[in-house]
Amino acid sequence: MLNIVLFGPPGSGKGTQAKFLEEKYQTPQISTGDLFRYNLKNDTDLGKQAREYMDKGSLVPDEITTNMLIDELDKGKGPKGYIFDGYPRTTSQAEALDKILEDKFEDEVTVTVALVVEDEILVQRLLERGKTSGRADDVDEDIIRHRITEYYTKTAEVAKHYKAQGKWVEIDGVGEIDEITQKLIEAINDAMINE
Ligand code: AMP
Repeated sequence: MLNIVLFGPPGSGKGTQAKFLEEKYQTPQISTGDLFRYNLKNDTDLGKQAREYMDKGSLVPDEITTNMLIDELDKGKGPKGYIFDGYPRTTSQAEALDKILEDKFEDEVTVTVALVVEDEILVQRLLERGKTSGRADDVDEDIIRHRITEYYTKTAEVAKHYKAQGKWVEIDGVGEIDEITQKLIEAINDAMINE
């Protein structure tokens, strides 16, 4: 399997790049943010549980998020692997993902590619996206800044987990979209060769 973790702060371009990588490697994207938004829209029990956190720009608790991910993997859409977009976002989620991949597929994360973008560019990108995305958490600058703070306080530490496994590659997330895609593909291909 090819299991790619696409990592980076909100607005770093994970979702955009995941679409290109899906096509290139024929591995479906799993975006926990998209899954939560689907549940919000359909007003499911899961959506009701997630709403209070998402509205504030806070992370949804690990257990709720990981159970949702397991349900998605159980659908079996990615026999060749997956692109994880927005998961893991805490060290406990990273540990859970290792265990889930091992238990379900006797496999592991191939590589984590982290998009690096400075904060003020993130804020500008998200405000711009908010004009058309229909996402409440993209419109309010305070909520955007809280999402970025959540990233630094809870998510950035996930880097240690993957660095310790030799599976961490950083990529400049500012520039032309197709140039960034190329850099991601090079990093992923290198990781596949060295696996
Ligand atoms: P995203 O679309 O990835 O920016 O996620 C939107 C929101 O969904 C986040 O601000 C969180 O409230 C929630 N969310 C998405 N993925 C996770 C995750 N892995 N852990 C906790 N909360 C998440």
